[in-house]
Amino acid sequence: MVLEKLSQSLRDTLSKIAKSMFVDEKLLNELVKDIQRALLQADVNVQLVFSLTKRIRERSSEKLPPGLTKKEHLIKIVYEELVALLGKEKAELSITKKPYTIMMAGLFGSGKTTTIGKLASYYAKRGYKIAALGLDVHRPAAPEQLVQVCSQAHIPVFINKQEKDPAAIYRQFQGELKKFDIVFVDTAGRDALSAELIKELEQLNSLIQPEQRILVISADIGQAAQRQAEQFHQSVHITGVIVTKMDGTARAGGALSACAVTKAPILFIGIGEKSNDLELFNPQGFVGRMLGMGDLEALLEKAKEAMTEDEAKDLGKRFLSGDFNLIDLYEQIEAMKKMGPFSKIIEMIPGFGQLKLPKEMLDVQEDKLRCWRFAMNSMTKEELEDPECVGRDRIERISQGSGVPVEDIRGMVKQYKQSKKMMKMMKGSEQNMGKMMKRLQQMQVKLR
Ligand code: GDP
Ligand code: MG
Repeated sequence: MVLEKLSQSLRDTLSKIAKSMFVDEKLLNELVKDIQRALLQADVNVQLVFSLTKRIRERSSEKLPPGLTKKEHLIKIVYEELVALLGKEKAELSITKKPYTIMMAGLFGSGKTTTIGKLASYYAKRGYKIAALGLDVHRPAAPEQLVQVCSQAHIPVFINKQEKDPAAIYRQFQGELKKFDIVFVDTAGRDALSAELIKELEQLNSLIQPEQRILVISADIGQAAQRQAEQFHQSVHITGVIVTKMDGTARAGGALSACAVTKAPILFIGIGEKSNDLELFNPQGFVGRMLGMGDLEALLEKAKEAMTEDEAKDLGKRFLSGDFNLIDLYEQIEAMKKMGPFSKIIEMIPGFGQLKLPKEMLDVQEDKLRCWRFAMNSMTKEELEDPECVGRDRIERISQGSGVPVEDIRGMVKQYKQSKKMMKMMKGSEQNMGKMMKRLQQMQVKLR
């Protein structure tokens, strides 16, 4: 897969969102940091990265679209911003006249000739009558290479190995080329963008007046692609870009995003040396695959199953205030059972992540919980609201009424008191963490 590493880090980031309890500042900060790291590693320009994460931040406080949870919304925003980074809409060539001439430009070795072979076979398969014209007169082997890459798809190639003036070669074949639907023009490159290269291109451009001037850029130059694209654009007005060698570099994110900021759309990407290693570039599909949209849907489903955010927040709040009765505790324990271990949930409540709570604290077995429910049915409203008042006599009474053993009722009341004490202790206790931790540990020992 192209951009494997970037893809993996982005997928990890998204699954972090899906699994998290709240979309809060902490999660957002983490998300932003993760995305920045991932994109910078793929050589995306720092400015682009920062403006992307800035938009994610801004948009995360947008009004929720109907039918989406905050989490789903955030995942959607990340997807959309990545798509925008790579160029929004897919841009397909529409072959509007005959012959439709496509001139390739680009530095030496960027993949122009190879890409003509790929494009020729791509459009031949779609029923077009294709020809190629070899105007790279500087490299002796260039015409042969063009013939070779076009031979597989049986594409006629027009070359003149004796002629050193590309304009003359064009004039020589101009009439014959009119018989074809699409003509690909191969041009020469240089090691660097030189004045002669530009001049030659400009001259050919005004002579041939091709419908498309496609810049071929190798992905391994990373974000330097932007400067190159801009310079080519200035001289011959590039109409589209093809980024090659996407398969061989981790910097492809840089090349793609850099090209996307130029006016010219990315039309295709090259993903290998063979004639069918060419892909129509569609930012949405590309990002979708990179993020593993199939997985993403499953992830969103999972996020839905968990407790709703508001429920969880409310639960957290009541806990934090230390203001809860026995029914609350029961409901909370029951709700938590659905969500997973208490320690996990506590981590998600802001400020609580650092506290190492005893895991057993609210870990009540299922059958015990059922006993509690029976017992609670035999309790008065006063007792439920203030279990502190449930002394020995009342425990006896409740036990008789519910058939739940005395020890279990005592255990329930004790657990309530312990939880309450602990939550009260936590209130504003971040300043004296050390003292707290010690007391928690003592409590944990007692609980066992
Ligand atoms: P030109 O000088 O611009 O015409 O570049 P060429 O077409 O001769 O390509 C230069 C080298 O890059 C050749 O070895 C090609 O096989 C290789 N190449 C071109 N496109 C791709 C691609 O998408 N992936 C890989 N791995 N190699 C490519
Ligand atoms: Mg070439």
